[in-house]
Amino acid sequence: MKVKLLESTKDAVNLIYSACRQCYSARFAAEIFRDKKISKKEKGLFIRKIVSSGHESPLEHAKFTFAVEGVSRALTHQLVRHRIASYSQQSQRYVKDESFSYVTPPVFKSDTLLMKEYESCMKMISGCYSKLIRLLEKKGITGESANQDARFILPQGVETKIVITMNCRELIHFFNQRCCTRAQWEIRQLAWCMLRICVKKMPEVFSGIGPKCETLKYCPEGGNFSCGKYPVKKNSGF
Ligand SMILES: Cc1cc2nc3c(=O)[nH]c(=O)nc-3n(C[C@H](O)[C@H](O)[C@H](O)COP(=O)(O)OP(=O)(O)OC[C@H]3O[C@@H](n4cnc5c(N)ncnc54)[C@H](O)[C@@H]3O)c2cc1C
Repeated sequence: MKVKLLESTKDAVNLIYSACRQCYSARFAAEIFRDKKISKKEKGLFIRKIVSSGHESPLEHAKFTFAVEGVSRALTHQLVRHRIASYSQQSQRYVKDESFSYVTPPVFKSDTLLMKEYESCMKMISGCYSKLIRLLEKKGITGESANQDARFILPQGVETKIVITMNCRELIHFFNQRCCTRAQWEIRQLAWCMLRICVKKMPEVFSGIGPKCETLKYCPEGGNFSCGKYPVKKNSGF
């Protein structure tokens, strides 16, 4: 999996700070934005105070755009359930998937028998895909018209590429859900990669962010599902 930051909002801490301040100040946000007297650290602390009181919307003014490759369609199917975001994904109509790459679950890698079976399934599907493309060509159906139907047999493990834009509020929500050990391993890996980038770029907002238990200080998942890092709610005193 490769996760690269393409772009993030310039002067984001100042931007969020100015938006937060506008709510409580008689001054104009444009003036607050230009005011150099307050340090970035102070601005960060103010943002944290406001956000922890539940006033999260100022975080929506700043956003991050990531380019991701080497992930499966199984991952992106889960990812796009996060609706407050923008996505641009490699198309299986415009890009032919003959001899496609695929993601291998770690448990398969650690077992020769599983790995052999998995690889042979992928090889078989790849062969069937090519056969369908050839048969469609014989009927005069080529290019995207052929790809769009041949793809029906492709597996969820097929490798894909996607560009993701999320604002900071949505990113925190995404990390709360997907950094948790309850999340599926591949999307969890993506969430942690994105979080590390966000923390590096904007520690004022993202340090201390992670699965929701890190904020709640208890596990909301319940007895059988808790990883044990925090007590479950009924034992937590909350
Ligand atoms: C461990 C785990 C297991 C899961 N298992 C399943 C499963 O088996 N089947 C399944 O279908 N999904 C499953 N999901 C997906 C899950 O149900 C959500 O669809 C997904 O996590 C996106 O979360 P969201 O809707 O909170 O967030 P987003 O779409 O990112 O939205 C962010 C927030 O905006 C608000 N919001 C967004 N849209 C609306 C709306 N239309 N109306 C009101 N408020 C809105 C909500 O407050 C929401 O929390 C699973 C997720 C996790 C983390």
